[in-house]
Amino acid sequence: MKTVTTIADLRAQVKEWKKEGLTVGLCPTMGYLHEGHASLMDKSVSCCDRTVASVFVNPIQFGPTEDLATYPRDFERDCQLLEEHGVDLVFHPEDREMYAEDFSTFVDMQVLSTTLCGASRPIHFRGVCTVITKLLNTVNPDKIFFGQKDAQQLAIIRRMVRDLNFDVEVIGCPIVREPDGLAKSSRNTYLSAEERKAALILSRSIRLGQDLCEGGERNSAALLGAMKDKLATEPMANVEYVEVVNGENMQPIDTFQEGDLVAMAVRIGSTRLIDNFTVGDPKITFAE
Ligand code: AMP
Repeated sequence: MKTVTTIADLRAQVKEWKKEGLTVGLCPTMGYLHEGHASLMDKSVSCCDRTVASVFVNPIQFGPTEDLATYPRDFERDCQLLEEHGVDLVFHPEDREMYAEDFSTFVDMQVLSTTLCGASRPIHFRGVCTVITKLLNTVNPDKIFFGQKDAQQLAIIRRMVRDLNFDVEVIGCPIVREPDGLAKSSRNTYLSAEERKAALILSRSIRLGQDLCEGGERNSAALLGAMKDKLATEPMANVEYVEVVNGENMQPIDTFQEGDLVAMAVRIGSTRLIDNFTVGDPKITFAE
């Protein structure tokens, strides 16, 4: 596996592959990789001739009071995982390689980025859209891979690719969970042992929501009421939002159908965790 740190080297390597007629998959990450990220790599390796992963903690998607400085990093371990999963090239730029001191061009989105996580993280999706645009312009991949774990991000990228005519196929990959149900996340490392236990309330309420949907519930208020009651049974959980939104435009809806999204952000102590399910997806399973 090759590591490159400059846009010029990344572009040059991908150009060589393209000249040989090889297809290229791109998996953007912020590092501190786990099996959730690995599932994106596996998918890319299975359907593209070459796979590029980026490991870059993108500063412009963090608000001033967020965890940019403390975001977990371990590039050596990341490389091990990427190599084990058959990644061909890892792009690991410095901040200054991505953003000149006088960087001043951003890609922003209306509507989809204003709800759910966007409501409390006003600049987050602008940062995401901008960095993904830069990566797409540099790599020009055939396919780009994102996790359903960040469902709003996935919907936003799909919309951006459509709106701006990027010539790439966006592939969404299912949420990978710990055996006990907790969605894998780099931020899980922030949790103390007690918080780690309390964090199970997210997947438990996701499962309750799925059970209710399976039973025919289609009223958002009824579904959310039951899920919020469940979340309220955990004293350490501080709910930022639980919402039902249209699966494409991320706007809240009173009644829902298959393909719509039920999403939540919950703080356990000072750690902000997210989880979601798409109505109609297979139900999550976990060891009791
Ligand atoms: P991040 O490093 O958190 O920016 O995540 C990079 C990519 O990995 C994003 O597309 C995430 O949605 C995806 N991802 C993170 N955690 C998981 C997970 N538990 N299951 C599936 N995909 C994930």
